[in-house]
Amino acid sequence: MWKNMGLTGKILIAMLLGIVLGLFINYAGLNAEGGFIDTYIINGFLAIVGKLFVNSLKMLVVPLVLISLICGVCGIGDIRLLGRIGTKTFLIYMMTTALAIATAIGLGSLFGIGKGMDLVSDTSFESKEAPPLLDVFSNIVPSNPISAMANGDMLSIIFFAVLIGISILMVGKPAKGLVQSLELINEVILKMVTIIMNLAPYGVFALLTKAMSELGLDLIVSLFGYVAVLVGSLAFHFFVTMMIVLKLFSGLSIKTFLAKMREVQIFAFSTSSSNATIPVTLRTVTKRMGVNNSVASFTVPFGATINMDGTAIMQGTATIFIANLYGIDLGVTEYLTVILMSVLASIGTAGVPGVGLIMLSMVFAQVGLPIEGIGLILGVDRLLDMLRTAVNVGSDAAVTTIVAKSEGKMDVAIYNDANAGTKDVFDGHIDEDNERNFSEIFSDGKMGSDYDDRPD
Ligand code: ASP
Repeated sequence: MWKNMGLTGKILIAMLLGIVLGLFINYAGLNAEGGFIDTYIINGFLAIVGKLFVNSLKMLVVPLVLISLICGVCGIGDIRLLGRIGTKTFLIYMMTTALAIATAIGLGSLFGIGKGMDLVSDTSFESKEAPPLLDVFSNIVPSNPISAMANGDMLSIIFFAVLIGISILMVGKPAKGLVQSLELINEVILKMVTIIMNLAPYGVFALLTKAMSELGLDLIVSLFGYVAVLVGSLAFHFFVTMMIVLKLFSGLSIKTFLAKMREVQIFAFSTSSSNATIPVTLRTVTKRMGVNNSVASFTVPFGATINMDGTAIMQGTATIFIANLYGIDLGVTEYLTVILMSVLASIGTAGVPGVGLIMLSMVFAQVGLPIEGIGLILGVDRLLDMLRTAVNVGSDAAVTTIVAKSEGKMDVAIYNDANAGTKDVFDGHIDEDNERNFSEIFSDGKMGSDYDDRPD
């Protein structure tokens, strides 16, 4: 049965099994520090499988973003259009983040979370420095592109790729062969994504079992108000606000979008990293939703870096919670500062696990809330990070779809085809057709000439 099941089904089952097993280990107290299960299973076997899986995703991020974006810019072909798409995407990303944080502040205030509670702060929290905003802007242009790639500095990589793409366009016809080769490399990297996606059930299972076995369940109970409002705001923003925005601006089916996003969101949930999820998001929006690579190759990595609706929601909720807890009154100016700071903070920080808390200390410092208050919510942040990352990538994909549809860079037939991009399963052997292609390619030097119309 497992063999004949679709990939999404397998990933879903792996996710549920991981959650149930992890919670069982936690609840039954089998995870005692230094014990057999803790040492050999949780921090041994599961940690290794999970790390291998996350590494294999991260491995593809930089090459994929660089190559697909160069191809994307060449695909747009018009520098002015590129500017328009860039501006439009940026504005919509900022708008959704502001909506997200407004929801969080609204619901947080409505329920008065944190009022009358008496909690002791975990003083072990040390705030790390968030990058100064000015540095973020000046570092967009990398002084050394190789080191930018080695460090995974997404905005620098985006800048470098766009510049290469524009230069290729300026060279024009003589560069046609180069573009074709890059498109082939892009296709090859997407095949690598496919291979890794087929290993996802095992990776997701390992990551979730480990994460759930380490959750502070008692803490979730004592911070119930905070956790409930935060989860409610995340759900409201993604399922209501974003879906209304999607319908309004693109007219596309919400049901189809949600169904096709399931896999991506499980990846985001298990890795807690929008960045590591980029390959899967990019593959899903292009192959399964029909978004043209010329739009997606830019909007997806850009969104993973600057668009963090889920993180903004956490910041809004945490601000209200800590302010109420410490009996600090926040006025309209402070709320507006929180909105502005959260939006700005999300621009400068990449989508990696736990980065939201670092940004939160920046927001707290600005509105004068005690930084050590963050220590209070630290214990439940692991789970909430998983949830907010799923919302972060959901918003990236929704905005990508909206921009692509509005620019006519979308194949609606692919979007509406439930099976689009699902048959591309790697089961260990290359099919006969491709094998034959290979021998032809190498015997008559036709490499790449027919790739464009090869089915997915
Ligand atoms: N983990 C989140 C992401 O990758 C960022 C955060 O909120 O910590 O999108």
